[in-house]
Amino acid sequence: MTPPEQQGLTASTTLWQDGWYRYARALASPNFGPRPAGSQIDLIVIHSISLPPGEFDNGNVQRLFTNQLDWEAHPYFQGIRGLQVSSHFFITRSGKLWQFVACSERAWHAGTSSYRGRSNCNDDSIGIELEGLEGGIFEAAQYETLTGLCAAILQAYPIAYIAGHEHVAAGRKQDPGPGFDWPLLRDSLACPTQYFPAVT
Ligand SMILES: [Zn+2]
Repeated sequence: MTPPEQQGLTASTTLWQDGWYRYARALASPNFGPRPAGSQIDLIVIHSISLPPGEFDNGNVQRLFTNQLDWEAHPYFQGIRGLQVSSHFFITRSGKLWQFVACSERAWHAGTSSYRGRSNCNDDSIGIELEGLEGGIFEAAQYETLTGLCAAILQAYPIAYIAGHEHVAAGRKQDPGPGFDWPLLRDSLACPTQYFPAVT
């Protein structure tokens, strides 16, 4: 029988390859940079996004994260013209998982932010975008994918905090908002309560 330590090693080396998650569809974004030397990746930031807001499954989020979005395609896009952002992961309404940036690299999802006494959360966090409308509810399939992904991240990185963009950029951002079921994620992951924002 394989010792537990060795099982863990085998699982994480199988699940991850240079920061890329095996069960995600990879679509490389140019919007990333190196993490500062010695970064301790201990935070997962959960977001919501849809382009335009409330419209799903049209490929626009994938286009935005790869700088391929046609700014003329919708009036809403005028307001975000030229925006260069990315997230490590994106989970569609049907639970499909995409990855744009290796977790070993710094993705551009949190912006000006501060959490657990540290600023610039992009430096040492992993960003996960859920396809959805800020404040709206999310699909069961999305929670399933999110739980599996978080479990795999917890296995590979020293995560100690899971929070929303609204918690790391309080007053500036509201996603994913009140429609996100924090107790469901907490119970699914069986993580200690102190991993999560106090309000959950
Ligand atoms: Zn966000």
